[in-house]
Amino acid sequence: MNIDPRGVRSFWIELPFTVGIMSLALFIRLAIAPVSAGLQYVTFFPAITLAAIFGGYRAGLLATAMGVGFATYFFIAPYYSFENEGLKIVSWSNLVFIVDGFLVSFSIEAMHRYRKKSEAELAEIKQSHLQVSRLNSELDEMIRLQRETEQELLISATAFEAQDGIMITDSSGVILRVNQAFTEITGYSSEEAVGQTPRLLKSGRHDADFYAAMWECIKRTGQWSGEIWDRRKNGEVFPKWLTITEVKSFDGNSVHYVSSQVDITARKASEDRIHNLAFYDPLTQLPNRRLLLDRLRHAVSFSLRDGRNVALMFIDLDKFKKLNDTLGHDIGDLLLKQVAERTCTCVRECDTVARLGGDEFVVLLDGLGGSLHEAAAQAKQIGRKIIDVLNQTYYLAGHEHQSGASVGIALFDEHCRTADDLLKQADIAMYQAKKAGRNTLRFFDPEMQASILARVALEKDFKEALLKENFYIFYQPVISNGGRVAGAEALVRWRHAIRGIVSPADFIPLAEETGLIVPLGNWVLKTACRQLADWSSRDDTRDLTIAVNVSARQLKQEDFVATVMGLIEETGASPQRLKLELTESMLVSDAESIIIKMNLLKAAGITFALDDFGTGYSSLAYLSRLPLDQLKVDQSFVRNIETEESAVVICAATINLAHNLKLKVVAEGVENEAQRKFLSSVHQCDFLQGYLFSKPVPIDEFEKFIRNYRVL
Ligand SMILES: [Mg+2]
Repeated sequence: MNIDPRGVRSFWIELPFTVGIMSLALFIRLAIAPVSAGLQYVTFFPAITLAAIFGGYRAGLLATAMGVGFATYFFIAPYYSFENEGLKIVSWSNLVFIVDGFLVSFSIEAMHRYRKKSEAELAEIKQSHLQVSRLNSELDEMIRLQRETEQELLISATAFEAQDGIMITDSSGVILRVNQAFTEITGYSSEEAVGQTPRLLKSGRHDADFYAAMWECIKRTGQWSGEIWDRRKNGEVFPKWLTITEVKSFDGNSVHYVSSQVDITARKASEDRIHNLAFYDPLTQLPNRRLLLDRLRHAVSFSLRDGRNVALMFIDLDKFKKLNDTLGHDIGDLLLKQVAERTCTCVRECDTVARLGGDEFVVLLDGLGGSLHEAAAQAKQIGRKIIDVLNQTYYLAGHEHQSGASVGIALFDEHCRTADDLLKQADIAMYQAKKAGRNTLRFFDPEMQASILARVALEKDFKEALLKENFYIFYQPVISNGGRVAGAEALVRWRHAIRGIVSPADFIPLAEETGLIVPLGNWVLKTACRQLADWSSRDDTRDLTIAVNVSARQLKQEDFVATVMGLIEETGASPQRLKLELTESMLVSDAESIIIKMNLLKAAGITFALDDFGTGYSSLAYLSRLPLDQLKVDQSFVRNIETEESAVVICAATINLAHNLKLKVVAEGVENEAQRKFLSSVHQCDFLQGYLFSKPVPIDEFEKFIRNYRVL
């Protein structure tokens, strides 16, 4: 321990401090006791004490000497000089004062030293305490680290036996350790694997470059991850996800390689399955709409870049729905599979055949060379080839089937800017082909587009007309065999604000497709019922019937019976005067529920006629099951009575058949006297309808016709 005996201050601070404090004591003494040297203790002694306390023992001794000097010089006569006489006088008191001064100075010094020593010891004790607590915390940290290490070891041991296969090799690749999962994945036990190298698992599916790249990556980054094909002990090649991590020693050298591996056989299989489901049609294994659109967009973007030609072909099978309805969906599916196979044989490697759903197939022809004209010729050639192969007879589980196809082709050119445009155009072209008859091929062109746009406009106007009831009914008289007006057929007409009268041939198919035929048909029914109610109060019209044409769509409505009955009740029309005309084609699907509805209406008194008889393909067996009252011979037969023998036979046979089934017959399209004579005089046709009597006319003209009509 090193304690400074002079206390805290240096000599050059002690000196002026001591002189100052002693001077202050002198002045105080001069002021309170100017002549007595014996009172040194009153002032000089406290000053010595203060000097010793604050300056140390040297200051105390200096102050003592100054006190002796001051007392002798200032307070012993003769004053202000040092003389032997004076010194003798105060020698005893000075001696005592000096001893006291020494004692005080050294006592205070001793106290200083003791205090400093105590402080130093205290600091040392504190230091020791600090050291002890530091050691304690170091010990705690060591214990904690040890526990952590133990925990980590435990985790490592558990991880080593986890689900991932783990293999540890030394720096030269010799297997040192494998876990249980490794054995389960590869089939090799620990005993079989240890001592070998990973070549044990090599499948031969990867070349030397693959492994070189893998090791290069490990050397550079310390790790490699990726999919790899390996071989199990039983010889089976399987995919796994492998991660190799390099373990380095403190000096930076590779000492071990740890590889963890997961068998991804199941994952890959399900990935493939999901990919297939997402992009391929499960029935035909052809690309689906999504994949087609993807390839189409790709092809279109390439076309924009390098000017290659792209064509899109829409294929629609004729009569597919009918096949499904008659032979069932299983047979329909067989046809679709064969169509897929046959179509694929007609296209090139780079083309895509896709199935969008139902019987809609699309072919994407990519990279057609030459000019647009040449590309079109190439597409046409492929299209014709497809039509030809699809037209050949199909053998579907014992059923022989003949089918045709309609093909629409659109080329990517200045008229279409996107893949979606091209799809739309090919679709439009396909509909044009369908319209033109079976086994036809059509190209899209802008005029076709214009007619589509016109159709859209017509649809919009039609909806508006329906809201505003811009429709009205023409009545065409039906004349009985006896020459009496028996009633009329109600025929709807549309008066368009700009186009004038729109032909039913234009708007009825539109109404059918859009479903607007239902509200339109209901409106016709209601108007006819009102007319019947109106006629019932007048003698000349009381017995007239009105025949209303009912569409398939209308008839299929769940509430059709309720709607008709509601209209009859609302208008007060007699149900016996209302006749509903159905066509044969309606009966193809869902005949049972239609028969139920017909029977319900029939029970209420409503009668039924089968329209356009002879043009459809309904089975004659239905005729006896349907609650019909009349057959209407189609005008195409009536028109040809005079020229075609077959028309004569058909008309006669139909009338005969109807009469045998206890049905009345109406012949449509009677235009001249010869036809009338043949039908009603020779063959006893019950009713006639046609221009010979009157064309369809507005209600007031019809009523005028009744009043003026005389039996021919
Ligand atoms: Mg009709």
